[in-house]
Amino acid sequence: MLDRKNIDPKYKWDLTKIYATEEAFKADYDEAQAIVNRFPAHEKTICNSAKGLLDALNDNAKIEYIISKLWVYSHLHFDTDASNNQAQARSGRVRSLAIAASAAGWFVGPYILRLDEKTVEQWYKEEPALETYRRLIFKIMRDKSHTLSDECEKLVASMGDALGSHSNIRGIFANSDLQFGKIRDENGKYMQLTDTNYVPTLMKPNRNVRRAAFNCLYKTYGQFGNTFATMYEGYVKERITFAKIGKFKSSLEASTFRDEVTPVIYNNLIKSVRASLPVIHDYYELKRQVLGLDKLHLYDVYAPLIEECESKYSYEEAVEEVLETVKIFGEEYHSTLTEGLKERGWVDVYPSKGKRGGAYSSGCPGTEPYILLNYTETFDDVSTLAHEAGHSMHSYFSRKYNEPHNSDYTIFVAEVASTVNELLLAHRKLEESKSDAEKLSILDGLMETYKGTLYRQTMFAEFERNAHRLAEKGEPLTAEVLNKEYMKLIKAYFGPKVWKDKQIAYEWMRIPHFYSNFYVYKYATCISAASAIVKRIETEGEAYVGKYIEFLKCGGSKSPLESLLIAGIDMSDPTVVDGAIEDFASAIAQFREIYNSQAK
Ligand SMILES: [Zn+2]
Repeated sequence: MLDRKNIDPKYKWDLTKIYATEEAFKADYDEAQAIVNRFPAHEKTICNSAKGLLDALNDNAKIEYIISKLWVYSHLHFDTDASNNQAQARSGRVRSLAIAASAAGWFVGPYILRLDEKTVEQWYKEEPALETYRRLIFKIMRDKSHTLSDECEKLVASMGDALGSHSNIRGIFANSDLQFGKIRDENGKYMQLTDTNYVPTLMKPNRNVRRAAFNCLYKTYGQFGNTFATMYEGYVKERITFAKIGKFKSSLEASTFRDEVTPVIYNNLIKSVRASLPVIHDYYELKRQVLGLDKLHLYDVYAPLIEECESKYSYEEAVEEVLETVKIFGEEYHSTLTEGLKERGWVDVYPSKGKRGGAYSSGCPGTEPYILLNYTETFDDVSTLAHEAGHSMHSYFSRKYNEPHNSDYTIFVAEVASTVNELLLAHRKLEESKSDAEKLSILDGLMETYKGTLYRQTMFAEFERNAHRLAEKGEPLTAEVLNKEYMKLIKAYFGPKVWKDKQIAYEWMRIPHFYSNFYVYKYATCISAASAIVKRIETEGEAYVGKYIEFLKCGGSKSPLESLLIAGIDMSDPTVVDGAIEDFASAIAQFREIYNSQAK
């Protein structure tokens, strides 16, 4: 592992672009502190006049702008060296300031909710500068029919801490109390099985190790079915109660309302994926053939289809691959990304001591859209750079073409631009590569992506929906009921040919996302939208690209569904998912063809 100080600065991000000196950081900190201190005075005037509202929202936006910058600067420093005391202290101070800011501005939402729409419309005319906050005000006001009296809201808020404990209990229980025991690894040595090393163990080529991990893990989970069911039922009932308090028809409606989406979109996704299950069944059949197995068990589905590909890409080559891929997006996209990657210090490239793992894109209005990588020269890493560059360019366009407070795009569209880049890169390399080994490896990655993001997440989304529906009908969510519901889905999604080991019925117990209130479907809708966009880019070329760039420029100025419509993608149309399915099917067909021609 490299020492950070021995890495050439051209491979490290340039955070002096945010604050050149510690004094500059401190000056911003003090300014934010001063606005936070004077903010409570707005409580008296925010609802009195257009000017009062505008002043409060301006100060609110300023605080948010500065604190985001302080936060980005602190956490980027911290993430490259967690042992740095100065970085730790800075992060702590910014966190306290953010808490103070949110306490000082507690009244903004509730007070705006008290205004009636006519008054606000009148105020837009009196004070045209208020227009810039139209979307923010709209988002607050749309909560009106789901909000109780001040007193009741306070009461509900005060219970939040105590009620939110189901997922904490599950996390503590699954991650620290549960002991799964030891299994023998491929060298015959004992290894401790944990929830974290379980999936990596299932990816091992050695089948005995995979089977042992599967049996060992579920033997433990199976003993605690009643406990897990009680925790999950508690969580589901809590969501249902909150939905009722907010006068929603169901917990699904309450959750999708927050995303500015509807249950129809959720249900359409499930319907479309359901209609295409034979495609994933065919994928498992391919897997069985390539692994040379008589029967494909559930502990085989993560096993690698092929040995790791030898191709290596230096970081400079990765940059060129990504830039070549995004040429289609036109001058502004291409030249901005070129500068960002080559001159403006967006990327922190290599792993080093104390640096956090993984990869992300981060930043805020007023900073560069930075990228953290842990680059190791594989094609996967090139793909990660394309992915994170997608996020960063989405942020770049959102921030450049919107005021800071209108620039944040929602989770519902957050993985679209990144996935578009990833898919375009894979498709381009498939066409160009002369090596069958490399093609097989790219296709394997592509198929894994569709399996994991489209099918698995939709199966989870269906489980979540069914469990909530049962509870809404008043049925108890016992271990028996949940196991049965889960097994039904396993049978449907894995198809007739995969051997359904009975312990898989307990898998729902180990999925923490079931406590995230209808979150996972967004992974599946994002990859569907991204596939549909890629298809149009590849068939219509430049005639279409302009629409896609307009979508990137939307930022948070429109609802997620409206902004996708600008890219020509109508998420209420069930056929959007079909594009992703066709791409998946085509990857399976290409893999099979190359693989069979090699076998001859
Ligand atoms: Zn991402």
